[in-house]
Amino acid sequence: MNYKTVLLLCAAWIGLNTAVLAQPLNIVFIMSDDHATNAISAYGSHLTSVFKTPHIDRLAEEGMRMDRTYCVNAICTPSRASILTGQYGHINGVKTLGDAIPPDSINVAELLQKGGYETALIGKWHLKTEPFGFDYWKVGPGQGKYHDPTFAEIGTPYQTRSGGKKVEGYYTDLVTDYALEWLEDRPADKPFALFLHHKAPHGKWEPAKRHEDFLEDVEIPEPASLWEDYSHRSEASRNYGTSISHRLADRRNMIDDVSSDRWPTQQIDMTGLTEKEQTKAAYQKYLKDYLRCVKAVDENVGRVLDYLDEEGLTENTLVVYTSDQGMFLGEHDYFDKRWIFEEAFRMPFIARLPGRIQAGSTTDLLGANIDFAPTLLEAVGLPIPNAMQGESFLKILETGKAPTGWRESVYYRYWMHLRGHHIPGHFGVRTDRYKLIFYYGLGLGATGADKEQTPAGWELYDLKNDPEEVNNVYGQSKYEAVSERLKRELKRLKEQYVDSDEPFPDLQKVIAESWN
Ligand code: CA
Repeated sequence: MNYKTVLLLCAAWIGLNTAVLAQPLNIVFIMSDDHATNAISAYGSHLTSVFKTPHIDRLAEEGMRMDRTYCVNAICTPSRASILTGQYGHINGVKTLGDAIPPDSINVAELLQKGGYETALIGKWHLKTEPFGFDYWKVGPGQGKYHDPTFAEIGTPYQTRSGGKKVEGYYTDLVTDYALEWLEDRPADKPFALFLHHKAPHGKWEPAKRHEDFLEDVEIPEPASLWEDYSHRSEASRNYGTSISHRLADRRNMIDDVSSDRWPTQQIDMTGLTEKEQTKAAYQKYLKDYLRCVKAVDENVGRVLDYLDEEGLTENTLVVYTSDQGMFLGEHDYFDKRWIFEEAFRMPFIARLPGRIQAGSTTDLLGANIDFAPTLLEAVGLPIPNAMQGESFLKILETGKAPTGWRESVYYRYWMHLRGHHIPGHFGVRTDRYKLIFYYGLGLGATGADKEQTPAGWELYDLKNDPEEVNNVYGQSKYEAVSERLKRELKRLKEQYVDSDEPFPDLQKVIAESWN
């Protein structure tokens, strides 16, 4: 069945005049890597006074900004797999950075392609298996390099970590060049779905030459939780992770990073500085290089929007801006992501479609990255396969109202126990007001996960009274009923998403000891 047949069937089904469908909907899905909502001025944060993203903000002004969209595992490869498949990692097989997506996975791009769309992937893939479901792809192997990167193209061998042809220029600019070239040359008789995936602002942070001095003389405001007192935390999380400061002995930290030759731009000399001054200096350096990388992403979003305007495509193109997950920018004294805390867990999601999505609208309704694929499919009138675990939030985008039976919670699971940034395996649930976290502290044989067991523990945050999550209230009698209710919800979600503990006797033991 091609897209015209599908559209005609849809039109007949919903009683539309087929003339309305003369111009089928196109999709431009722009996804950056590790772009925190705090670094998008449309979202507003302590950074907004010194840093703006005017082009991404334009999308929000002309479309809807979703304020509570979450990734179900806050790390690159698994989030990308969940976005493509609409499934959790334990279903699609991508639970950690070490897993490759099976080539027979259900895939939104392939479904669009089969539905008559011309599909393209340009930029970062990071799913190990050769890209599939795209009529055209051009990707930077692995993480890709910021300056003079290499790209592999459809029809040439795909290699996971290296390979491809070296090109002069800056990654963020180049992938936009390639995307616009592809749009220019695409078949005129088909609608298109373009997946434009930036490498930026993933570390190591190497700004474009034109942004090397951007923010140089600016003092970047600090988040209050940079100086978090960890005494409220459970033993299961207190001494884990990586930090800006030297808080965690013998662990990777930003002070050492920015003062060593591992850092790709001018290093900071920490000689003679107190510990607090070193933390402040490391924070400034990290944020400036990160925001410089974001600056180029924002400019290039503007180039895409301008192109759509010039070509008369704006009116019938759904444009999405998102990121594979958020990022800690010094909040909780963290960098990186992976934890269920808001700054990593929350994703930007902004969508524009004139006439169907109200300009300048926002929503607090919960969304998740497993919902993206169903939403795109429903937006273009294609069926949503039952195998997808997410649900379409198109109705939220179009009306601001929740579909019947809409999610009242999001289930999260981080599998890559201790590997990389020393973060324990955990799962949790977030509702409108609360977040309950259970750190089980086991690798469970997940690819690349560590075998060492860490303490189990619970944390509960009341996000209404404590939006920064600096006051764990688990165990307080006032919150006992809430904890019990959320534990039941956690169990219900695990059943709903078929995330069974049965294959893991070690986990069952920890749960039996801790779950009361
Ligand atoms: Ca990422």
